[in-house]
Amino acid sequence: MTSNSVLISEVGPRDGLQNCSAIMPTEEKKRWISALAAAGVKEIEVGSFVSPKLLPQMADTGEIVRHAVQISGLDVAVLVPNLKGAQLALESGAHKITLPMSVSETHSLRNIRRTHDQVIEEAQAIAELIAAQPEGKRPHFEGSLSTAFGCTLEGPIDEAVILRSAERLMAAGCDEVGLSDTTGYGDPGSMRHLIRAVRGVVGAENLTGVHLHNTRGLGLANVMAAYEEGIITFDSSLGGLGGCPTAPGASGNVVTEDLVFMFESMGIDTGIDLEALMATREIVAAALPDEELYGFTPRAGLPLGFKGAPVPAAAE
Ligand code: ZN
Repeated sequence: MTSNSVLISEVGPRDGLQNCSAIMPTEEKKRWISALAAAGVKEIEVGSFVSPKLLPQMADTGEIVRHAVQISGLDVAVLVPNLKGAQLALESGAHKITLPMSVSETHSLRNIRRTHDQVIEEAQAIAELIAAQPEGKRPHFEGSLSTAFGCTLEGPIDEAVILRSAERLMAAGCDEVGLSDTTGYGDPGSMRHLIRAVRGVVGAENLTGVHLHNTRGLGLANVMAAYEEGIITFDSSLGGLGGCPTAPGASGNVVTEDLVFMFESMGIDTGIDLEALMATREIVAAALPDEELYGFTPRAGLPLGFKGAPVPAAAE
């Protein structure tokens, strides 16, 4: 069943900025995140708790989270590679923690230096840590199946491995799993197929979000396929920030502005004011002048008479 509203989860401050060579100053990150929230973005992945030696772009994540959690109505998400990252996430007050598990074990070793068994151990330890927190202080915990549609190191991944990984993440104590097309290998057909297959083992309620890249230009087509399968949360980044080092001219994540335009044009509510959203590009452009910002809608402007989706009546 499809929904008449969707959640756009902005991942530019994490997925976008970690792929930029320049480092966005902390104060500019805060301004950008506040401006995104003011435009109606309800969930933002604001950073990742990784070693600052590996990703100096993310070194200020603690400070960024502490800023973002003060914005009322905003769900603040972070990526963590391990238990230590989860501890930092809890200390900073993040609302949502995502642990990536690359279904390609080769990529998992490269990305977070852990085998599948070791990732599952981390997931269990994180789930226990969360469970030990007082009620109301327990962040939502997602296990993200990265490289689910193929890996640049291993190629296609055996579906049995993907399904087993999804089951193991849930058994380890994740609240849900997500599907990530880290490499932009997915297409609408594989999107539908894998969503159904994973839901077949974990239940539809435990797979509600996808994280898609636009590496080969299929980002929005893949979003539509996922939406029609009943997915309601979509990760994207403003300006398709980040790019892809192995695909010149390709944007990184799905471009938030184009994604919001598509849904709002279709009458599907995102809660986001598109003009205000597009205006936040100026903050990024000023802070990262050498970074290319993608997106068709910001370049073309909104169509004459564009109104966007009607705001749904309150559910009371
Ligand atoms: Zn990504």
